[in-house]
Amino acid sequence: MSAPDIHSARPSFASFAPPQRTLMGPGPSDLHPRTLAALSRPTVGHLDPSFVGMMDELKVLLRYAFQTENALTFPVSGPGSVGMETCFDNLVEPGDTVIVCRNGVFGGRMIENVERAGGIAIVVDDVWGETVDPQKVEDAFKTHPEAKLLAFVHAETSTGARADAQALAEIARRHGALSIVDAVTSLAGCELRVDAWGLDAVYSGSQKCLSSAPGLSPVTFSEAALERIKGRSRRVQSWFMDLNLVLDYWNSAKRTYHHTAPINNLYALHESLLLLAEEGIENAWARHARLHRMLRAGLEAMGLQFVVAEPWRLPQLNTVYVPEGVNDPEVRRRLLNNFNLEIGAGLGPLAGKVWRFGLMGQSCREENIILCLQALAETLN
Ligand code: PLP
Repeated sequence: MSAPDIHSARPSFASFAPPQRTLMGPGPSDLHPRTLAALSRPTVGHLDPSFVGMMDELKVLLRYAFQTENALTFPVSGPGSVGMETCFDNLVEPGDTVIVCRNGVFGGRMIENVERAGGIAIVVDDVWGETVDPQKVEDAFKTHPEAKLLAFVHAETSTGARADAQALAEIARRHGALSIVDAVTSLAGCELRVDAWGLDAVYSGSQKCLSSAPGLSPVTFSEAALERIKGRSRRVQSWFMDLNLVLDYWNSAKRTYHHTAPINNLYALHESLLLLAEEGIENAWARHARLHRMLRAGLEAMGLQFVVAEPWRLPQLNTVYVPEGVNDPEVRRRLLNNFNLEIGAGLGPLAGKVWRFGLMGQSCREENIILCLQALAETLN
């Protein structure tokens, strides 16, 4: 008997028509109509002169968002995780000691990145939902003066806690180390000043407070980080993420082909960064802080309790305990089905215990908060 011919039946599906949701989870966030429209503009070649001009603007716009003069500032092709690996793979050499702060899921991923790059991770643990304790970091440097890098998450999306990036980077610098900072959730959602705070390698994501399409990871590297990368004793293990190669496309007049850039996705990032520049970065931070207070008042009026203490709470990621006796997945399912509203579940040890309400970028609007509070009140009653 001959094998059935799996190619004989031609698949026939309708075009995909996603529902219109309101995204108030941990990301992605809602895209502004201008950003969505940018995605559907005609695709050009990645070496087309018009495109190359747009790439130069993108770098300027990203420097503004990061508040930096760093020449090496560009969007890595790939989600935040690729930006993360780009930082670790380029800055960690086998045998290097790296102090890593862990107070949530994403600090844990940093440890994995260090170890996969052949480094030795010295882990500084803090309680999930609390900030990173600078004294513990100071102590870790005293015990490990050989440490070459300090890695921490500025905005821990799994808990909603902020780290004092300026204080932590200052400790690293005092001990002769560079800093690697995860700003996936912080960029454009709360104060982040790469130059003023002396951060060395910072990665972010397009889909959180920038409100662009998922799949790009803006990064920025200080001169000191660039020198470290150029002076490596071994080649970067990853070909795709080796900055020495990528930069021939992004940062040189030669524009040597490295990989096919995600053209339309870059149009969208450009548009979302224009929107940010039109609003003004400090105004965007202030909007997130103001609307966080509005959401907080509503959630607390319903008796919900925040996980993170006020001074370290991220305005763009609000984590509250699921009330006793309430069916977590059922509530989220009803919010989605009845109100087209997405909120986030807990991650890791917080799974089933918390809800995460994102107020990121274009999702951070008064009408979303009103929808969210009304929908939640009806669902919990
Ligand atoms: N770091 C943080 C703090 C995040 O919140 C995320 C995603 O949620 C990532 C890294 C990974 O980003 P991506 O999912 O875009 O790969």
